[in-house]
Amino acid sequence: MFQKRTNQTARQVPVQENNVPKQFSKSFTNNKNQDQLRVIALGGFGSVTQNMFCYEYAPGGDFAKSQIIIVDCGVGFPETDIFGVDLVIPDTEYLMDKKDRILGIFITHGHEDHIGALRFIIPILGSHIPIFAPKLAVAFIENRLAEAQIRPNLTEYKHSQIMEKGPFKVDPILVNHSIPDTHHFAITTPVGVIYHGSDFKFDTMPMDGKYADLQHICKVGAAGVLCLLSDSLGSEHPGFSPSERSISENFENEIKGAKKRVFITTISSNIVRWGQAITYGKRAGRKIVMVGYSVEKAVNLAKELGYLDVKDQDLVPIDRVRNFADDKLMFLVAGFAGQPESALSKMIMGKHKIKIKAGDKVIFSSPDYIPGTVSAIHTMIDNLSKMGAEVVYGEKEVHVSGHAYQAEHALLINMVRPKYLLPIGGNFRHIRAYHDMANTMGYGTDRLLSPDTAQVVTFYANGGADTETEIPFRKVLIDGFGVGDVGATVLRDRKTLAEEGMFTIIMLVNAETGALSKEPVVLSRGFVFVKENIDLINYLKQEAIAKFKEASGKPTNFEFVKDQVQGHIEQVIFEKTGRQPMVLPLVVEIE
Ligand SMILES: [Zn+2]
Repeated sequence: MFQKRTNQTARQVPVQENNVPKQFSKSFTNNKNQDQLRVIALGGFGSVTQNMFCYEYAPGGDFAKSQIIIVDCGVGFPETDIFGVDLVIPDTEYLMDKKDRILGIFITHGHEDHIGALRFIIPILGSHIPIFAPKLAVAFIENRLAEAQIRPNLTEYKHSQIMEKGPFKVDPILVNHSIPDTHHFAITTPVGVIYHGSDFKFDTMPMDGKYADLQHICKVGAAGVLCLLSDSLGSEHPGFSPSERSISENFENEIKGAKKRVFITTISSNIVRWGQAITYGKRAGRKIVMVGYSVEKAVNLAKELGYLDVKDQDLVPIDRVRNFADDKLMFLVAGFAGQPESALSKMIMGKHKIKIKAGDKVIFSSPDYIPGTVSAIHTMIDNLSKMGAEVVYGEKEVHVSGHAYQAEHALLINMVRPKYLLPIGGNFRHIRAYHDMANTMGYGTDRLLSPDTAQVVTFYANGGADTETEIPFRKVLIDGFGVGDVGATVLRDRKTLAEEGMFTIIMLVNAETGALSKEPVVLSRGFVFVKENIDLINYLKQEAIAKFKEASGKPTNFEFVKDQVQGHIEQVIFEKTGRQPMVLPLVVEIE
């Protein structure tokens, strides 16, 4: 796994009385020997996506004896300056020597930025770790991990069903969002109750009739909450976020008014929106065609589980569309974010069976604010307009946010009444807006926590809190998550490749014993000529063999081995040559 290191290094600042940040110094002495709870954002604070939060309880402040639960395990979309990389995932380095103390992973809902990294991280942490998720997320996770040939230890939870793991009690609370089955967690720990308010909104007239459980939230609040971690993405907007119902009329009119074919795109897991589209499409006498693997998978799973009212006779397979007139078809298309391998991008580039024609209508019923996706979306809209398609997007009110606005945040704060507020799920500008709003509600700076990206929030048994600890933090980049590509996921950084070259170590492994069956094979491109540097290459081979043996176990986790060999060889090459080529270890099993 190629992991790009940021410039931040590990820094553990001892917490002393005179070193406690000003806002906390008055009331608390955070002495280290009391019970502590760390909240760590493994995808970094100040990030919208890559949600993965680690709750670590240390009795008597002894972190060698800590116990851990994790909330969510999602992917992120990289900023555009990272050369063609498709995904980023949270950095699990912090957990490497604590793996046996992870008691469970609790999933709030089935969005990719909350579950999408499981397929990369479960092999690293171990597939025995229990994962708890609501029904729809269970289906998505099962499906996705089966493709990666991982068998997870997965359990479905229901709303209000308390789960106990070691010193933690996790109580799931139903809220609204753009996917059914979204929950908040009231997490009881020996240090206090933390309310984990991940992505949510309060839709007072939800399309699916499932209301957020405000009574439950009030009950949790009445019992006393130490800290509210809250979604903050919508906190720049005043008032209430519009109900999903509020776009119904516009959305239906856009579909009804189309003369030729209609294409609709949104986040593949936005089951609520697909449900609306299907209802309006059917009413307009159109058959539904699903285009793109992720849409087909999400819609079919939701249909099987009873979340969508769509019958087989409403659907037309892609190969049969030519039997229908243009005005009798509606396509649900994957790829709202413009990922190059997705169905919509390919259609626009003319590389798909279905091609967009002049007169077609394309409706983007999707967010246009997710970091790393904005410019690709605008390019698609431009290209479609150039092709003569009619494009309908955000400003014509065909999308509502799944994230709470200020009034909903104020409501949540009022119900939970926490001692501290810790905004998550937003960039620093959203966090700032959240703070400003909370400020007007009487929350002073001593109660607003604002950790930097790699800082850890520590809560103490005496009620104190600080952000003095920092963890080393790296960007973990993933490439090649395209359709059907999961098994061949390759990790690379093309900038490094262009500037420093590439160094591949192929380790041939006996499939039965898991041991190396031959000396590794080395390939080098743009780094050094193998023939002219035979001593260096031989030395690197021996180092790779030694590291392989050291990292092997019974059974061997080859992802871990590759990771270890890569890190080691990178370091040796840098020490010997001062260069940093991309090191790509491959394990090939042979009979
Ligand atoms: Zn979400």
